[in-house]
Amino acid sequence: MRLRRLRDSMQKNNIDAALITREPNILYFTGFRGGTYLLVPLDEEPTLYVYGVDYEAAREELSGIDVKLLRYEDDPNKIISEKVVELGCRSVGFDFLDAKTYEKLGKLLGTAAELREVDEVVWSLRTVKDEEELKLMAEAARLTELGLEAALEALRPGVREYEVAAEAEYAMRRNGAEGPAFETIVASGPRSAYPHGWSSDRTIREGDLVIIDLGAKHAGYCSDLTRTYVVGKPTEKQLRLYEAVREAQEKALKAVRAGVEAREVDAEARKTLETHGLSKYFVHGLGHGVGLEIHEPPRLNQASKAKLKAGNVITIEPGVYIPGYGGIRIEDTVLVVEEGAERLTKAGYGLSVA
Ligand code: ZN
Ligand code: ZN
Repeated sequence: MRLRRLRDSMQKNNIDAALITREPNILYFTGFRGGTYLLVPLDEEPTLYVYGVDYEAAREELSGIDVKLLRYEDDPNKIISEKVVELGCRSVGFDFLDAKTYEKLGKLLGTAAELREVDEVVWSLRTVKDEEELKLMAEAARLTELGLEAALEALRPGVREYEVAAEAEYAMRRNGAEGPAFETIVASGPRSAYPHGWSSDRTIREGDLVIIDLGAKHAGYCSDLTRTYVVGKPTEKQLRLYEAVREAQEKALKAVRAGVEAREVDAEARKTLETHGLSKYFVHGLGHGVGLEIHEPPRLNQASKAKLKAGNVITIEPGVYIPGYGGIRIEDTVLVVEEGAERLTKAGYGLSVA
């Protein structure tokens, strides 16, 4: 199915063969984790080139794909260029090649075939999730919520940030996650003002703002969820900031639907924070695509040229970060549908720890 969609796009773009080298792309098209090069000719059987460590697994798991063993003494560029010439392909579209490989492969192909970067073509497929992917992503979201619950249970004055992160990751793993989709962020007190914080050995104190940003990985698929809490009774200022960020997220979520410009959705959150005099503290884009990778297209920011499509899975994550004081971020992973957004992460809101 996915290979068929790839071939449709290849045909439209006059590509005779696709050379896929990025691991998540190989996984997307074959369902196999591992493999070094995937060559997909327009009308012949695809070939997956694998090294010895993956060879037996690939042969067992794959059907309809020819599995070829690469030995360390082989020059894969030579093998691929010979195959391309043998197939009579005149244009080879690739997702990614490092400069060295691009040069070598280009030389070997000479005038026989032209190399063309078609990363966008691959992303245009991957950014629209199919039903099977959405099921896996819903499960990744559920595991993430279990992680957040465990983090909340561990959250109290005197505990260190990494201890809270450890509880979250353990709960996700214990319930069947492959692992965290990224390093869990627990950033407390003044550290919550770092948008890309990490979990340090800081001891959490009464009255601290605590940002918890986490995600489980399930069957290769990621999820992304952030909540912010205050340990103890929130101050008026903390509540005011929290309400502003919540409002920004709500307004942005309401703006999400198929066909809307990603930067319009970002602008919605920015405008809302502006009415509270807070937009200068919103120092990152509103969100990003999620899938087999934690950060994917489409990007939601002021420079984005993307238009949202039904089937996109994106995050909506406004935040304010006041240096020396602290920060607040609220993030959910949502599915774009024709008329709006459906939340995949369903954790409740609220600043106070129950
Ligand atoms: Zn996140
Ligand atoms: Zn995110």
